[in-house]
Amino acid sequence: PEAITVQELANRMAERTSDLVKTLFKMGTPVTATQTIDQDTAELLVTEFGHIIKRVSDSDVEIGVGGEADVDTDLQPRPPVVTIMGHVDHGKTSLLDALRGTDVVAGEAGGITQHIGAYQVTLKSGAKISFLDTPGHEAFTEMRARGATITDIVVIVVAGDDGLMPQTIEAINHTKAAGVPMIVAINKMDKPGSDANKIRTALLQHDVQVEAMGGEVQDVEVSALKKTGLDELTDKILLQAELLELRANPDRMAEATVVEAKLDKGKGPLATVLVRRGTLRTGDIFVVGTESGKVRALVNDKGQQVKEAGPSVPVEVLGLTGVPMAGDNLAVVENEARAREVALYRQQVATAKRTTSAPASLESMFSAIS
Ligand code: GDP
Ligand code: MG
Repeated sequence: PEAITVQELANRMAERTSDLVKTLFKMGTPVTATQTIDQDTAELLVTEFGHIIKRVSDSDVEIGVGGEADVDTDLQPRPPVVTIMGHVDHGKTSLLDALRGTDVVAGEAGGITQHIGAYQVTLKSGAKISFLDTPGHEAFTEMRARGATITDIVVIVVAGDDGLMPQTIEAINHTKAAGVPMIVAINKMDKPGSDANKIRTALLQHDVQVEAMGGEVQDVEVSALKKTGLDELTDKILLQAELLELRANPDRMAEATVVEAKLDKGKGPLATVLVRRGTLRTGDIFVVGTESGKVRALVNDKGQQVKEAGPSVPVEVLGLTGVPMAGDNLAVVENEARAREVALYRQQVATAKRTTSAPASLESMFSAIS
């Protein structure tokens, strides 16, 4: 269905039109420069000239860029990824900070924590939990809208002295829609006016049945301020994680999701990613959204340079060609040519989408002939 003129193709191949016409004649396809040839003929011609067709269709270019299934026996347990949601002022930020304080490794690292959009705590037991440090349902729904649900468990924070508020209900609905299990943290239990049972009862009206009410949703009374109930909360997160049987193959080319990205004056484009599977290492070549790159350095949530990051580990990546978007997929590929090819293709598709509603055409397909 798609066609290209000989002239146009010659242009894209940086060859003389007359040479193409001659070759086509030899191939048994007598045409003039302004005539069109079909896709098969064009491909044949390109090959005849010793060029490589970099892509024939969307899937052809994207093939091999992550996505392949893992063999069951290669899967190993991975830490859960948790998002905290709830109404404004109910204590999301305070709870994230308090949980961060439970990290036994942070102390050893000198306690220098930096905000990279996600962090991982190592509990006394050695168990690990990753938290997305982007509280609120906006980040969650935005990621979900982009097909990047990386959250395994949602913790809904409700202030015990307040009750279910519009954003609490929104958070409950978003969590349910995403099919992600929730744990309710009834916060501010240090406040005299707090009433956990009132919250449990109110939750019933929104079809959230906590265990005390005969349901299956775990709840826990906490105080982010006084740091009480935190062990119970992390225990419940780990219990929920166990039920989910979270596993990933660490021994493959890494795939990760961008949590946040920015342009740093000194370091250039930076992206905080959360590794979903495989292990990301310095020197790895990757594509991320319409950008590509080579891992120059990896910085963890404690501000330390690390050589690698495995499944569920959040890490800041240096060495990108540009700033990707939150929710973008990062996939390690075999070499730089491949990374550039995929990134270029994606840029063209993005441009095509912006300028017309039509999908990438033969014209854009042949623009990357080398
Ligand atoms: P967010 O908007 O959900 O992120 O809520 P914040 O973490 O910013 O907390 C809002 C206010 O509630 C702040 O003044 C906190 O100090 C306070 N707060 C948070 N957690 C607790 C708690 O457990 N007990 C008490 N008494 N105050 C809390
Ligand atoms: Mg906050």
